[in-house]
Parts: sequence; structure tokens; C-alpha cells
Amino acid sequence: MLRRCGNLGRMLRLVLAILVTALALAAKGPVYVLLWFDTEDYMEPAADDAALRIATELEKMGVRATFKVVGEKARVLEARGRRDVIRALAGHDIGYHSNYHSVQPTPALYLRDMGWLDGAADFERRERPGVADLQRIFGVTPSCYGQPGSSWAPQAYRALLRLGIPVYLDESDHVGVEEQPFWFAGMLNVFHMGRYVMRFPLADESQAPQSMAKFDRAADALEARGGGVISWYYHPTEFVTSAFWDLNFAKGANPERSEWKNPPRRPVEEAERCYRIFLRYVEHAKARAGVRFITARDLPLLYESASVRVKDRALIARHMSEKQTFLATDAGTLSAADMLQVLLGMDPAAVEGPVARGETTDREKEIPRAAFERAKADAAGIIRANRRLPAEVWIGSKKLSLPDFAATLAADDGASAGVAVRKGNPEMEKYITTDPSGTFSWPIHPEGFSAPQLLELARLQAWTLKPARLK
Ligand SMILES: [Zn+2]
Repeated sequence: MLRRCGNLGRMLRLVLAILVTALALAAKGPVYVLLWFDTEDYMEPAADDAALRIATELEKMGVRATFKVVGEKARVLEARGRRDVIRALAGHDIGYHSNYHSVQPTPALYLRDMGWLDGAADFERRERPGVADLQRIFGVTPSCYGQPGSSWAPQAYRALLRLGIPVYLDESDHVGVEEQPFWFAGMLNVFHMGRYVMRFPLADESQAPQSMAKFDRAADALEARGGGVISWYYHPTEFVTSAFWDLNFAKGANPERSEWKNPPRRPVEEAERCYRIFLRYVEHAKARAGVRFITARDLPLLYESASVRVKDRALIARHMSEKQTFLATDAGTLSAADMLQVLLGMDPAAVEGPVARGETTDREKEIPRAAFERAKADAAGIIRANRRLPAEVWIGSKKLSLPDFAATLAADDGASAGVAVRKGNPEMEKYITTDPSGTFSWPIHPEGFSAPQLLELARLQAWTLKPARLK
């Protein structure tokens, strides 16, 4: 009897242990690995073979990657008759990596002193032909865009949406939220990924164990926080060259095509080592339970769309009266722009941030009810007509800056005879870097390059910033 009890106890414990393990596994979030290649070297023909080799090897392993192709690279592949490379890349996902990459002037350089609308128009004018060439050569609209080097600029976002590109995929620290995908200026971004960005050394085998350990730590952390994305990138040219092809354009240089020098090649055995180490990394990642390789084209399907329907106006009012920044609710994540629209009685739609920083000229402590209601209707009309937030809102002949207006609106009880003016607190701006030089540091930019105005435009677009949430 005693003995039978012991057996039963052991069995129960075993069943319990299995249940606990199963529950723990089920609770772990999915780890999506976004493997991408900036396919940009249009000088060294060996880089064409490198792209082919990587695409082919990954296909054999059943792994799909995202190849962000430069417009000129696509045209050069076509001119060199490399249908084999084009076909192999087209079997994966195709993104866009600018029309000429490092040929001067690069995007941050020509956009540095431009505004939101004129800058977006010029980016679109320069980049539309590259997107059209990719469509013609690969048969698809690119799934994503990422800037050359650190030549990031917020005006690109408006243009990219107009070009039909919904995802921003790259790595830099201009803007980011919690080291995971986020919405900014209407695009889904994988950017500034912190612990979750991988770029392991290729030529040095001795570093492989610590690289794989880093991947595992990132995957563990993501599983614990309910799942997310690991962003992992290379350039095909790195496998076969020992210096970047675009140093031809270093420090703002503008050489003629006839003067371009090809990059130095890696010795064949070293290149082979790079492929071997890289494939070991991929094998390692692929072998881990819960890991799924995805492409930029999959991303919008895995994340909730940016549009939300919200009912909890009181929660929003409380939040926005204290600070203007995004808010996570049960209904989804809300940007400050979403919430401003809700407070104005609108259904939140995709809008742009203001084009300038407005100024408060109304020094009264209170605004008469009727005047404030007219200002609200005016603000809603502007947003509806322009699909953009105003920089400031008129109260008769005086104005409130957008943050001051939002805080005042949020704190208003809707009934009192006078509406108390509150000062805004645009906390969302802290997600934009404050370093206008270091963050644009890139060997191709002219020496001492700095772009504070681009960061200011980005701070204004931070009205649209919010974390993306997995479905
Ligand atoms: Zn690049």
C-alpha cells in the first residue's frame, strides 16, 4: 500500500513536471529573426558572386532573407548579364537601399537644410527611378528601405510611403523605442535595436562561440518578454572584400566613374572561411526551438496595424494632460497624434507630425469656452484636410503651440466657462537622439558633418511614434 502510494506520488510529480514544462514553453514568446543583406557594391564583380552564393546557400537551408538592393547595383547586375544572381535574390525578399548609396550628395547631406515637404519631394524625385528599376528587374515593389550608412533623414519617410514602401529596416540610433519594432511617421521600423541587433565577425572563427552565446542571450530575453525581433545583417561584399567599396566617396569625395577603384579582395581561403562561419551562425539560430526566420515583407503581417479604435477617452485625457508621448492600452498602442485626434472627437487616422515647432503667444491663463471650442473645430478641420498635425492652434488672433494645446485640451473638463491653459510636455521627443554629429558619423559624409535640423524634424514627427505590438 505504502509502496503503491509512493509510485502514484512519483507519477503525479512527473505529470506535473511535464505540464509545467509545456506551459513554460507555450508562454515563451516567438523569436523572429530578420536576416538582411545590404546589397550595394556595384564596383567589385566578386560581390555579385557573393550575393549569389549567400542566396543559394540560405535557400538550401530553407531560410529566407531580405536583400536590400541599391538601384545602381540592380542595373549593374542586369548590364553584366547576371540573370542568375537576380533570380537567386528574387527567390528571397527584395528591399531597397537607395539609388546610388554613397555617390554625393547622400540623403542626409542634401536633406540637412530642407524642410518636411520640400525635402520629401526631393528625396522622392531622386529615389523614384531606383525603385522603378527594382520593380522592373526583380518584378516586385521593395518591401522596405534603409539608408546608406548613417545618412538617415526623416523626410524620407513621407516619400517612401508615397513610393509604396511600408517598412523602414536599418540600424542606427536616430530614433528608437525599447529596442524593438515601432511606428514612426507612418512606417513600421526595425531600427535602433540595441541588444537585439546582431552583426557577428565573419573572418575570425575564434569569436564564433561568444557570438552564438550573444544570440542565445538575445533570444532568451525576447522569449521572456513575450517575443519579438532579432535584426541581423551583413553585406554580401564583406564576404569577398576587406574594405568597403564606397571609400571612393570618403569625406565627401566626388570622383568620376572612370576613377573609381575596386575594393581590396579577401584571399579565397579567407572568403571561404567567412561563408563557413556565417552558415554555422545560421545553423545555430535555426536549430533553436521557437526561432523563425522572417523577411521585411512578413513584418506587417506579424504586427498589429497602426490604426486603433479607442473608447477610453478618460485614460487618454489623464495621460495627455501630463505628457505627450505614446501610451500602451488593451486596445493597442497609441501615439500622441492618435490621442490628440481622440481628444478632438475624431477617429484616429494616420497623420504626419507638424512641419515646424509652433509658439504659444496667448499669455492668458484662461481661454473663454466658446473661443476654445472654435479652436478645437479648427484644429480638427486642419488635421482632416491635411492629414497632418498643425504646428500651432489659433485662439482668435493668438496661438497655442501644439503641445500646449494638447495639454490644455486633455485637462479640459468640457463644461467650465473658462478653459485653463496648461503647458505641454512633449516627452515623446526623448526617443530622438540629441547628438547631431555622432549619430551621422559615416566615412562618406564630409568631415565634421552635423545635422541638427534633421533631428528637430524627427522630434516633430515623434507625435506619430509608438511601439509596434505583435499580433
Ligand atoms: Zn549600405
